[in-house]
Amino acid sequence: MAEGHCVFCKIVRGELPSMKLYEDERTLCFMDINPATRGHSLVVPKAHRENIYEMSEAECADVMNVTKRVADAVRKTLEPDGLNLLQANGLQAFQTVFHFHMHIIPRYTNDPIKLPWIPREGNMEEIRKNSEIIRAFFE
Ligand SMILES: [Zn+2]
Repeated sequence: MAEGHCVFCKIVRGELPSMKLYEDERTLCFMDINPATRGHSLVVPKAHRENIYEMSEAECADVMNVTKRVADAVRKTLEPDGLNLLQANGLQAFQTVFHFHMHIIPRYTNDPIKLPWIPREGNMEEIRKNSEIIRAFFE
């Protein structure tokens, strides 16, 4: 999606309202208006980046640093029982807004959120083969 029509770019530019939690030169955190739980917020780079593949490592570090600050603030203020970070890339991963965003989702005992998979014992040979395929990229 072009930056001009991107809802998060419009929030960054102030063309759409948002409830900001934190802002600096390169990064913005604001409340998710479709919250999964109480206190759910989003951290975005101010520059339009569709997904993690378009982000520089420095931009990823900026987002993670702000995520850490906001997570600490959420922990001290709302006192959730836990907290998930969630970041989606691509339709198959349930990305719905195509401007990189990190979800900060406070978790509470008995909240309605269910993780989307049940861990099952893996095939060690298959796991080893996949590790070799990925690790070869770095060699
Ligand atoms: Zn955007």
